[in-house]
Amino acid sequence: LIQLYMPLNHLGILYREIRQSLTDIERLFGLLVQHREVQDAPDARPLERGPCAVSFEGVGFAYEPKRRILADVGFDIPAGRSLAVVGHSGSGKSTLARLLYRFYDISAGGIRINGSDIRSLTQASLRAAIGIVPQDTVLFNDTIFYNIQYGRPTAARDEVIEAARAAHLHEFIERLPDGYETKVGERGLKLSGGEKQRVAIARALLKNPPILIFDEATSALDSKTEKAIQGELDQVAHGHTTLIIAHRLSTVMNADEILVLDGGRIVERGRHRDLLERGGYYAQMWALQLQEKGIESEAEAVTAA
Ligand code: ATP
Repeated sequence: LIQLYMPLNHLGILYREIRQSLTDIERLFGLLVQHREVQDAPDARPLERGPCAVSFEGVGFAYEPKRRILADVGFDIPAGRSLAVVGHSGSGKSTLARLLYRFYDISAGGIRINGSDIRSLTQASLRAAIGIVPQDTVLFNDTIFYNIQYGRPTAARDEVIEAARAAHLHEFIERLPDGYETKVGERGLKLSGGEKQRVAIARALLKNPPILIFDEATSALDSKTEKAIQGELDQVAHGHTTLIIAHRLSTVMNADEILVLDGGRIVERGRHRDLLERGGYYAQMWALQLQEKGIESEAEAVTAA
């Protein structure tokens, strides 16, 4: 019986892993998996484990032949550093993340990890190296424990609790009627936007991949929660190569490099201070966001962010 059980058990874990990544990814990318299949090259190699440097070189891409979405996009994220991408809605920010995940193949240029073109790597190893903290985390109708453990279904109980602690969820969970066994999701306890983001952070901590993609929520969190979550994201990002699809002033300010995309092209790049001094597109966006938040001075902005 054990011989029958072991493979079935593995299948179960594999199924959960696949379901987990599909759910988060579909949500991140808003996809109804209907695009053409990206195939492994016949001689595809696995990506070696360890820190990852990401580079985009002259990347061009179109979902449909006649509508160019990205043109000549290039950047490097050294291992352990962060890059934030800002730009108006539709400028191509999420597309960059989809391409790094190799949901689509590019039409020009190259995307490399540690010098290897991602088209020469197995998709399984590429995707195992990337963790996603999506805008809106999907919760399954199951216990909160199960929902966190999804980050790494083979994780032991104390590892799950450790991740929950690091994501500042543990105390909240302990106060729930059934603790870690409390049912959440549509048919259970509804979690707030901030709590759901923390579940996503705990999952990312458990998976602990070398590359992280943060797709920041556009929906408003109250500023206290936003600040707390920012601190937790910084902790998770520490030592990871991080691509941030940014909507919040605070994350953008702390990034090692900021790219400003407009119509699929990089129109400005640099660090927060340099970009403000340049007084261009970024400075305008910043001023606009401050206005929206009703903040007058930059000092006030830094405190509020
Ligand atoms: P937002 O801030 O609103 O999320 P974004 O900058 O992330 O926007 P993308 O999602 O990268 O923008 O989309 C860039 C462009 O590509 C948009 O014009 C969008 O309509 C188009 N696009 C996105 N996904 C697809 C798709 N699957 N098929 C065809 N066009 C698409």
